[in-house]
Amino acid sequence: MAQEQGIRPVTELHPLAGHDEARAALIQANAAARLPAALLVQGMRGVGKQRLALWLAQLQLCEAPTREGPCGTCRPCRLVLGLEHPDLHWYFPVSRPTGVSGDRLSEALESARADALAELREQPLRPSLGDEMRGLYLGLMQSLRRRAQSRPTLSAVQVFIIADAELLVPQESSPEAANALLKLLEEPPQCTRMILTSSEPGRLLPTIRSRSVPLHLSPLSTRNVASFMVAHLGIEDDVATWAATLGQGSIGRALGFLPDDDGPGPLETLRRDALKLLEAALVGSPAAGFAAALEQSSAGARRLVELFTFGEEWLRDLAAVASGAEERVLSQDSVDRLRAMAARLSASPADLARAFPAFEEARELARGNVNPQLIVSGLVRRLRESLLTPAPAGAKA
Ligand SMILES: [Zn+2]
Repeated sequence: MAQEQGIRPVTELHPLAGHDEARAALIQANAAARLPAALLVQGMRGVGKQRLALWLAQLQLCEAPTREGPCGTCRPCRLVLGLEHPDLHWYFPVSRPTGVSGDRLSEALESARADALAELREQPLRPSLGDEMRGLYLGLMQSLRRRAQSRPTLSAVQVFIIADAELLVPQESSPEAANALLKLLEEPPQCTRMILTSSEPGRLLPTIRSRSVPLHLSPLSTRNVASFMVAHLGIEDDVATWAATLGQGSIGRALGFLPDDDGPGPLETLRRDALKLLEAALVGSPAAGFAAALEQSSAGARRLVELFTFGEEWLRDLAAVASGAEERVLSQDSVDRLRAMAARLSASPADLARAFPAFEEARELARGNVNPQLIVSGLVRRLRESLLTPAPAGAKA
């Protein structure tokens, strides 16, 4: 991050939460000089993969690591915590700049990355949301390769973090960005350490997967996520517990439920929309389903995928309420609405399972860029069939 050295950090990175086992293994490997040249950190979105990668970078750059990890006070540690260490290079997907090409594009991508880094320095804690409009473009990977060929500035090694490495693939139907990285993984320059992260390792090129050592991060406990939010965001206990429960072990996801100045958090908006979608399938006329479909007309594919995942969660909650197991409901704030929905079901609780494949199919279609209105209206129609038709066929429609 040498090019942004002039900027003073407004804040310092928050501490890494949880992942004690992974940390212990990494501390041991580092002490024995057995850390792999390329590590692939896997785990659900928002579970702390970037933060763990930064912590590991700090561990490798620290002048006096202890058995607990990086010392936290030496100059390299301070520089890492301010995201200013010249031998720490953090690459992550950025939006593709418009109206530029060739060398200019490479420059524009680097400047987009610098802008994003400046934002991260000011506000390192942000919700983890999928965004299909970003990518790890070839220009970025070329600049990474150039940098990897140079010597470290301050420390004995230089560390490269490549976030959301699966986003190397789906761009411009060209594998060049991935190949640029692959070359580096095949012949890593001495003194170079690579840390890749991915919440969807199945989408990585097999060649990239096979050249890196996997490290899986488990979801955090709800209590761990909640106390982190209380300690570092000053959020009230009950709100933190509510968001942590919905976050299901991911700090980044939990953050997405918290309201901001503009209203409900982005994930909370999606969760509410998914409930409306399921309600539309259960009440009124088929027209209500089409109205719901129209509302989704401007939704991007990633938003739809999330929407359908929330729909599945609601359906699980509905099944729990319908079968009298309210303690299993994830969205405890909506038990009343779920009860009202359960009262309208014609299918038996056991038959609710028939509705799940509808969400799965809708997700597949959303990934395939099918028209959102078509997907949602098809989904609502299928849900009506599964939920409002009694199992013995034929009675009422
Ligand atoms: Zn240190």
